[in-house]
Amino acid sequence: MSMMTGEQYRKSLRRLKPEIYYMGEKIESVADHPAFVPHVNAAALTYEMALAPEFEELLSTTSHLTGEKINRYTHIHHSHDDLVKKVKMLRALGQQTGSCFQRCVGHDGLNSVYSITYEIDQKMGTDYHKRLVNLLKEVQSKDLMISGAMTDVKGDRRLSPSQQKDPDLYVHMVEKQKDGIVVSGAKAHITGAVNSHGHLVMPTAAMKAEDAGYAVCFYVPVDTPGVIHIFGRQTNDTRKCDGCFLDQGNVDYGIVGGEALIVFDKVFVPWERVFMCGEYEFAYELVERFATAHRQNYGGCKTGMADTLIGASYALAQAQGTDRASHIRDKLVEMVHLTETLYCCSIACSCQGYALPAGSYMADPLLANVTKLNVTRHVYEIARLAQDIAGGILATAPSEMDWKDPRVGKYVDKYMKGVADIPAETRMRLIRLLEAMTCGTALVESMHGAGSPQAQRIMIERQANLERKKRLAEKLAKIGEQPLLVC
Ligand code: SF4
Repeated sequence: MSMMTGEQYRKSLRRLKPEIYYMGEKIESVADHPAFVPHVNAAALTYEMALAPEFEELLSTTSHLTGEKINRYTHIHHSHDDLVKKVKMLRALGQQTGSCFQRCVGHDGLNSVYSITYEIDQKMGTDYHKRLVNLLKEVQSKDLMISGAMTDVKGDRRLSPSQQKDPDLYVHMVEKQKDGIVVSGAKAHITGAVNSHGHLVMPTAAMKAEDAGYAVCFYVPVDTPGVIHIFGRQTNDTRKCDGCFLDQGNVDYGIVGGEALIVFDKVFVPWERVFMCGEYEFAYELVERFATAHRQNYGGCKTGMADTLIGASYALAQAQGTDRASHIRDKLVEMVHLTETLYCCSIACSCQGYALPAGSYMADPLLANVTKLNVTRHVYEIARLAQDIAGGILATAPSEMDWKDPRVGKYVDKYMKGVADIPAETRMRLIRLLEAMTCGTALVESMHGAGSPQAQRIMIERQANLERKKRLAEKLAKIGEQPLLVC
């Protein structure tokens, strides 16, 4: 079997026994607990769409290792076409889910570690790449979903990993054994962690010689002893568990991917699953490649979600009788303009991508960082325009429970109606979808997911080649030629 159905993915989760906590409860089955079902559904769609005739060209491809048909989420990019198809795949999934479908992080991690292990081996004579290829074969043949666990909790941001008072504030090796290593620490904000099959753990920053113990990269199955998941709260998350349907807004797929803190408490990792162990000189390059890969994505998934948001804004304007007003049309056009601008960036950084020594392809780092930096602004502006179109009812609409109440339900239904021939329920559903997509956690994800804006600015400055731009200007201004004014 090399490609799972969505249902097989859910069943595969039920066979695992990860240690997960949420709101003081130990979770027995993520595939069945209402707090997790929307996130599982969104990830399951990456399996279902890969088998659907209209999407299979985008979501499936051929393994360069085995020649088998595989899910694109387990693929190593080998061309510009692969990079472009990834962006198109993300837009298609964003349109269908209106939420984060999580599987991209591990995919980007696999691509980054694939290329960097090749280069470590070339320089250091290690055999990390062969180990990674073996993991990749397993991921492809079993169609596994893996998380990409990069961000450390970081403690005091002024201090490097080895300078922290508590040594566990960055994931590190605590012991080297004959058969493997033992690691401790924690990774924060890890998307899709609780409903993945395993975690690909990577260093989070540039390292110096004294931080060598923190330059570790490895893979562990999600239910490895000592791996503990603490799932984060989200805006309105209790609505998933209080029996409401309409009030959730996006009942099938939730509002974001679902992030967790992953604690590694003296976890044993066998050598065959270790891909970096002390090669600190390669840590920054790995971070930059992963960041580039994930920032490339944001003009794909976010534009797919924006398509849905624009549609919801338009439909709500129709339900409220404002859709023909010129200022509403202007706002809808502005939302489309912003959305397509983001998409252009993702496509451009894919087309400007290039081959790495391992033969795999990565997107252009400068343009990928510009893509993500734009997302930190444009998605907020798109959401602001959606809220403007929706009106204050976005923040004041009565609950589904009052709409169903035998005493006051008829009033809610009567006074929530806009245009006479559109049911109040239609308007309420659209309001809740807009609320889910524009209020709270969903927006923060656009700001800080794939790194905060300052991280993109740093990489943009590094890639900008200001000296070359200066030389261009100096040439035109004929600076350095014979002075005209001789004193
Ligand atoms: Fe994928 Fe977008 Fe979610 Fe990142 S934020 S995991 S790119 S859907």
